[in-house]
Amino acid sequence: MSKYFSPAEFQRCTPSCLITDMDPDFLEYLDAFREFVGIPLVLSCAYRSVAWEKSKGRTGNSAHTRGKAVDIVCNTSATRYKIVSAALHFGFRRIGIGKNYIHLDNDKSLPQGVIWHYYA
Ligand SMILES: [Zn+2]
Repeated sequence: MSKYFSPAEFQRCTPSCLITDMDPDFLEYLDAFREFVGIPLVLSCAYRSVAWEKSKGRTGNSAHTRGKAVDIVCNTSATRYKIVSAALHFGFRRIGIGKNYIHLDNDKSLPQGVIWHYYA
């Protein structure tokens, strides 16, 4: 189902999810991106239910709820540079920069050509 991402990796995410919760096209895209970037990508978050989102006070319209988004662990500026530059070259049009993760999604129902941050 995925060359680089095991079912266990999705179960370890917060919230825990299943690889089968993910959109198959996104999963294929993510695998190709992993090949392209050439470094290990550790997922901290993947699929999230609408109910989970609402319990956190969010709208429930995140790309995560459609299985078209992941958050990738990122703790150094060099890794951040590598992932973000590769993501832009690869074709990601939606990137979020967190303190210790990078959000990537390819949800065409949401605004394209955006990079946002999660800083308070
Ligand atoms: Zn995210």
